[in-house]
Amino acid sequence: MKSRLLFLGPPGAGKGTQAQRICTTNGFMHLSTGDLLRKEVSLGTDLGKEADEIMSRGELVSDSMVLSIVQRNLNSDNSGWVLDGFPRTVVQAQSLGELLNEINQPIDAVILLQLNDQDLIKRLISRGREDDSEEIIQNRLEVYRQKTEPLIDYYRAHGLLVGIEASGSIEEISARIEAILN
Ligand code: AMP
Repeated sequence: MKSRLLFLGPPGAGKGTQAQRICTTNGFMHLSTGDLLRKEVSLGTDLGKEADEIMSRGELVSDSMVLSIVQRNLNSDNSGWVLDGFPRTVVQAQSLGELLNEINQPIDAVILLQLNDQDLIKRLISRGREDDSEEIIQNRLEVYRQKTEPLIDYYRAHGLLVGIEASGSIEEISARIEAILN
């Protein structure tokens, strides 16, 4: 069974919701860099203070910042995990590759959640998070296209990419993902 997964896809595709469900069902660790960053912000740590303003604009925080967070949370003890919202740049993907090599935990699959822009925007607006205003949403989609979308080709070239249709009910989407794991 595939147990080391990376969820890729635009904001609003449902990565967080699905990662949570898949981790609960299968006993995997859910590692969301967005959640971990929001926690740093709410705790008022130095890292959180630095990240806060960048996140509220819908930009990406620095590669070194997220990498330090990921390094703290990924080690050889983990028996299965879903990385959600990370990597978001090719540099992050390369660093992740090195880290996983060192702890001998290769990625089993990269699951790309695909959804059209109209539905993405609809979902993001209904979610109502602080960085989900219409203008910031447009910026986050733009940042996704420029910085994160190149990862699709990157992981396809590594033979790891599996695309799924991220429309329909939450349960339907989870079932599509479970089918890939088994
Ligand atoms: P998310 O919850 O995944 O949508 O992330 C919320 C925000 O946190 C993003 O808009 C970025 O500002 C920041 N963030 C989360 N993950 C990363 C990452 N891997 N690289 C850079 N910034 C990130």
